[in-house]
Amino acid sequence: MIKKSLRTIQELESYLTLTVAEKEAILTLSQRGGLPLRITQHYLSLINPQDPNDPLRLQVIPQQAEFKPVELERRDPLGEEDHEVVPHLVHRYPDRVLLLITDRCASYCRFCTRKRWVGQGPTPNLNHLEKALVYVAEHTEIKEVIISGGDPMILDDKKIEILLQKIRAIPNIDVIRFHTRMLTFEPTRITDKLVEIFKKYQPIYIVSHFNHPNEIAPETEQAILKLVDQGLPVLNQAVLLKNINDNSETLTQLFRKLTHLRVRPYYLHQCDIAPGTEQFRVPLLRALELVKSLRGHLSGLCLPTFVIDIPGGFGKVPMFPSPIVAQNSDCITLEGFAGEQANYPLQ
Ligand SMILES: *Cc1c(COP(=O)(O)O)cnc(C)c1O
Ligand code: SF4
Repeated sequence: MIKKSLRTIQELESYLTLTVAEKEAILTLSQRGGLPLRITQHYLSLINPQDPNDPLRLQVIPQQAEFKPVELERRDPLGEEDHEVVPHLVHRYPDRVLLLITDRCASYCRFCTRKRWVGQGPTPNLNHLEKALVYVAEHTEIKEVIISGGDPMILDDKKIEILLQKIRAIPNIDVIRFHTRMLTFEPTRITDKLVEIFKKYQPIYIVSHFNHPNEIAPETEQAILKLVDQGLPVLNQAVLLKNINDNSETLTQLFRKLTHLRVRPYYLHQCDIAPGTEQFRVPLLRALELVKSLRGHLSGLCLPTFVIDIPGGFGKVPMFPSPIVAQNSDCITLEGFAGEQANYPLQ
């Protein structure tokens, strides 16, 4: 299913010349362990080999900064282990659960929030799945199952079908959400057969993960259309990443391109405080300025909600510079996107 992926310096060097620093980082990684190195040939083909700062390259090729200890960073930034009700099932919000069905991905993102576990296991098995589904069926307040990982599309069609079948058989479950980065890393994984499987277990929402417009190749567009033309809604989550997409032109281009393809930009995440991710984090006040510069200029359809996942696992909160610039007992003063202000009565 994954046509080809590369995991070593030698393999990578047949596509691009690694810098000395990148080679050192890859060697450090092989000594220390951690989130593995793996990049699909497809994703590599989208990288400009001449540019050491290519925005896709920076997402998947390790840098020395990955090994720098930063005091405020946390092994499990979202406190998922504390909210794990049975192994690999995270129940943080009342009406929905997160099912981590595999730790494997087609390529590994160096900023991954679950880098403590992703690509390293333990890999969930059928026994874990059965226990998770018993929990979901016993907690009838749960209406939605979010299938994530790792990347659930790494499973073969048969396993995906069994998984969907089992979840669909639980009467309290309405929506199934399927989080995947396969549209980015290996778009040909979206076969007609896979789409037919998804269609049998509707309502299913596919949530993609695109961070940069260069990640959308012609094959990617075809894969997205396969889904949306068959009535499978696709939403996108992006991560705000320093020197990769932290400017209004790149984000505008990304969100417009996705909306054109009928992928609704859903969340833009501030990068979580996983270990060794400082080089990816945009300082928060600058991030808020950036978000402000998009609002109003970009159609509401194109605009995702900028969120921070509160460290410790207290949920995602939307972040935006407040439009309320003044307040008294009668009214508030609101500022529009172009800077004009007016009062609005409180009663
Ligand atoms: C993000 C997340 C969800 C989904 O949250 P939405 O705001 O509905 O997208 C559910 N469970 C966990 C544990 C999450 O981290
Ligand atoms: S695809 Fe998702 S789970 Fe896999 S490494 Fe990237 S961010 Fe982490």
